[in-house]
Amino acid sequence: MTETLSVVIPVFNEEDNLDELIKRTLAACDKTEIQYEIILVDDGSKDKSVAILEKASNEFPTKVISVLLNRNYGQHAAVMAGLEASKGSIVVTLDADLQNPPEEIPNLVNEVIEKGVDVVGTIRENRQDSIFRKLPSAMINKAVQKATGVAMSDYGCMLRAYRRNIVDAMLQCHERSTFIPILANSFAAKTSEIKVAHAERSAGDSKYNFIKLIALQFDLVTCMTTFPIRMLTYIGTFIAMLGTLFGVLIIILRLIHGAAWAAEGVFTLFAILFIFVGLQFLAMGLLGEYIGRIYEDVRARPRYFIREIKGKTTL
Ligand code: UDP
Ligand code: MG
Repeated sequence: MTETLSVVIPVFNEEDNLDELIKRTLAACDKTEIQYEIILVDDGSKDKSVAILEKASNEFPTKVISVLLNRNYGQHAAVMAGLEASKGSIVVTLDADLQNPPEEIPNLVNEVIEKGVDVVGTIRENRQDSIFRKLPSAMINKAVQKATGVAMSDYGCMLRAYRRNIVDAMLQCHERSTFIPILANSFAAKTSEIKVAHAERSAGDSKYNFIKLIALQFDLVTCMTTFPIRMLTYIGTFIAMLGTLFGVLIIILRLIHGAAWAAEGVFTLFAILFIFVGLQFLAMGLLGEYIGRIYEDVRARPRYFIREIKGKTTL
């Protein structure tokens, strides 16, 4: 099979980075010596980004494809739009702000071809972000590793390579909020990671403010599993048991030590309260179980993907 390459890049108000980005990406793709397309998705930019993209597409009509969204939908939605337009057997995603050096593209492509993996993740060497950007992602990375069991050390970096079958699988997930690296991993059979350089943002500011960052982390948590909501059941059952036991203990002690020990009925009231609080948590956990199932069904992710079918009946 001859391999082809699609590079997908989301763009949101990146006018100062685009010229260099396109130049360096073209040069990096030429190095791979396979046929390629660069898909730049404009996520409703308000600056000159669109004009620059249109100019580049006119100049390299077969190599630079511009997909223009009508408004801002967010980075992951923009990448999804790019994936949908992509045709390559290998797809690489990266950011437009040159924090991910395009020069790493040939390394990613090689890794996919040589190791035969579905997804190649990256580890950012000497990451050039502020501590306020690093700390939350470090915490999230840990949590994701625990919950998914997929061992990848860096989920925040969008410089990644995917096999076509993984991209097709992701495109069949119609949920609104997605976190692409995790979604991809939930379908990948074999993954690997390589180290890549990481630069400071070349120009402009991060497009994520604090609120958007928190929203993104929630997308990440809910994209992963219904694990958080299921936790309610476990915590609920535990607290219910604890509350009931404590309530019963107070009642027994009251019977042994008499009304004076129990502060004339106050403790009894507490005992009843504990039992009810426990029951409430249990009920919440039960609701959580239902909501978790509803969530799975509403997302309607495909249950599985067939890799290949061998043999053919004559029926
Ligand atoms: N981006 C986008 N839509 C948005 C926010 C960001 O397409 O609503 C793009 C942005 O142009 C960049 C990438 O997503 O190519 C990553 O954004 P940024 O560098 O601001 O994020 P950070 O590096 O701070 O995580
Ligand atoms: Mg950035």
